[in-house]
Amino acid sequence: MTKLILLALDKSPTLALLSRAFHAVGYKTVIAHNKAGVEKVMQESHPALLLLGSSLQKKKSTELIEALLKQYPTLPIVFLATENSPELTRKALRSGVSAYLEPPLKTDEIVDAVQSSLKRARRIGDWMRQEIKGTTASLEKRISEMEVLLAIGRDVTGTLDLDGVLKNVVEAAVNLTHAEEGSLLLLDEKSDELYMRASHNFEDGFARSFRLPVNDTLAGQVLETGEALILSKEALHKIQTAYLVQSLIYVPLKIGERVIGVLGVDNRQHRLPFTERDVLLISILADYAAVAIENARLYQASENERSKFEAVLSNMNDALLILDEQGIVQLVNDTMCNALAVEARDLLNKTIPEVISQRDFLALLELDDDKKTQYNEINTEDQRVFRAQYTNIQKVGAVITMQDISHLKELNHLKDNFVHTVSHDLRSPLTAVLGYAELLERVGPVNKQQKEFIRRIHTSVEDITELINDLLDLGKIEAGFDIHRETLQLESILRYALSNIEIQSKNRNQILDIDIAPNLPPICGNAVRLRQMFDNLIGNAIKYTPEGKRVSVELHLEGTQIIFKVSDQGHGIPQDDQPHIFEKFYRASNISSSAPGTGLGLSIVKTIVENHNGRIWVESKVGEGSTFFVVLPSKKTHK
Ligand code: ADP
Repeated sequence: MTKLILLALDKSPTLALLSRAFHAVGYKTVIAHNKAGVEKVMQESHPALLLLGSSLQKKKSTELIEALLKQYPTLPIVFLATENSPELTRKALRSGVSAYLEPPLKTDEIVDAVQSSLKRARRIGDWMRQEIKGTTASLEKRISEMEVLLAIGRDVTGTLDLDGVLKNVVEAAVNLTHAEEGSLLLLDEKSDELYMRASHNFEDGFARSFRLPVNDTLAGQVLETGEALILSKEALHKIQTAYLVQSLIYVPLKIGERVIGVLGVDNRQHRLPFTERDVLLISILADYAAVAIENARLYQASENERSKFEAVLSNMNDALLILDEQGIVQLVNDTMCNALAVEARDLLNKTIPEVISQRDFLALLELDDDKKTQYNEINTEDQRVFRAQYTNIQKVGAVITMQDISHLKELNHLKDNFVHTVSHDLRSPLTAVLGYAELLERVGPVNKQQKEFIRRIHTSVEDITELINDLLDLGKIEAGFDIHRETLQLESILRYALSNIEIQSKNRNQILDIDIAPNLPPICGNAVRLRQMFDNLIGNAIKYTPEGKRVSVELHLEGTQIIFKVSDQGHGIPQDDQPHIFEKFYRASNISSSAPGTGLGLSIVKTIVENHNGRIWVESKVGEGSTFFVVLPSKKTHK
């Protein structure tokens, strides 16, 4: 390609002469008469050389040269001084021009200077290209090393195949250091020997049977000192190695401060020594191998724990299910699957409502925010009864456990049947006792004492009859015999109950406050039982409140729920007794045993409330009084 020379000179006859001279020796020329022109040509035409006349920029010539060389460091510049000035000469030479010519300026001298400047520039160019080639090759080598290391890194984090990872590590060690063979030796703590866990270019049988004592061996030394070793033939000939080698590198495999093995490469045939860079590469690979081994150990340990845990879970009698924070099933044992009649694989990684339609079980999941645990009874299709417990565990999710209580339920059922039968059978003889007691007075005269005895027989039989009636009632309600439901106004039932009960509070000189909200929505229920509920609760309030004190009855609506509230100023219920007062035959510890009552009233009330899908609870303070709350859902009105 013809070289282009930029002539940055004043207009003068010499210019045409110079142009011709350059053309004659095979160059093309382009001319610029000012600084802007020079810059334009530099950008557009990339001339091979600049011939700059000092008159073009006068004193600023050297500044222009410096600016141009900053931008085009390899541009050869031949400077033509149009006058003799030592000052200019010094400055121009300092600014980095390739050649400097002073007057008298001769065309052939100028052409000579240009040619030799171009030749020098070409040599510099060649040298630079050579350098760049070398640097690029070494950069490429580094990049491919990095790529190998990256791939191993990905291997370590991305796979659990330890054999594969270690094999790749040793292979990479051999390839990156251009070694002949490589091995990864691990310490067998029992025998204090090193064995070959992975190898490259070793014969399989040799690798399998390879054993190296830690004492007095190079690998053992690396294991004990934790320092890498790089040795060549000269240093090696006195030292015992397992096999004859020309050069080798051993680096320790460390987990924290503990050395667990050695990664090594060696050359048996060629004598090319290893470099410090090779040690660096092998060290990085050794770190990867150590991480992979530690990961595999941790994984194995956690797997062992998990399988132990799973064995315990699947062999335990309680049903168990674990959910994560999103409510997705993470673990379920056989007992749970069996109880819910599902396969574990259908449940795992799904939410419960996706798989289970059992209402009792789903109700368990509807836990109030302020509660940590929720209980429910679950009746399964195969007629078993489970007591289920749902517990929220922060940062884990939740756990559901269930115990089979079918046998307890069965026992309870037998007991209830027994009580029911006995109560029933007792009624007729009791009626006879009562009848004969009444007849006694009629068949002949009785004295005062006999009369008193007859009265006592009467009250005792009445007490037993009340107890039996309560028991029979409870039996009926619990068995769900009175399923009759109708739409009714709770308000009228309450008023009816009050009309009968008011007399009791009057007899005790109590103040009875009644507050019934107007226009309450209807509810769906059993009128007889609801009346019984009011009788019991208001009756208790009157019974357990001293004379002259106040009893308040309230009925109002909250949202879609009707709230019944009965408060008294009685002696209250001790804190410890409160959880039990709804149980059968339970009477609080502050009640005298001679106080009338059977201890069955509240359990009848609770069963009635629950049969109406309601809730009942008590708030009470000893010496101040008690308030019983009943919440019943109002009947849904359809549009
Ligand atoms: P009882 O026949 O003994 O009244 P209940 O089942 O109706 O049986 O009540 C159980 C126990 O709860 C009572 O024995 C009493 O100790 C306590 N109790 C119930 N209502 C009240 C109340 N309003 N004030 C104080 N204690 C009460």
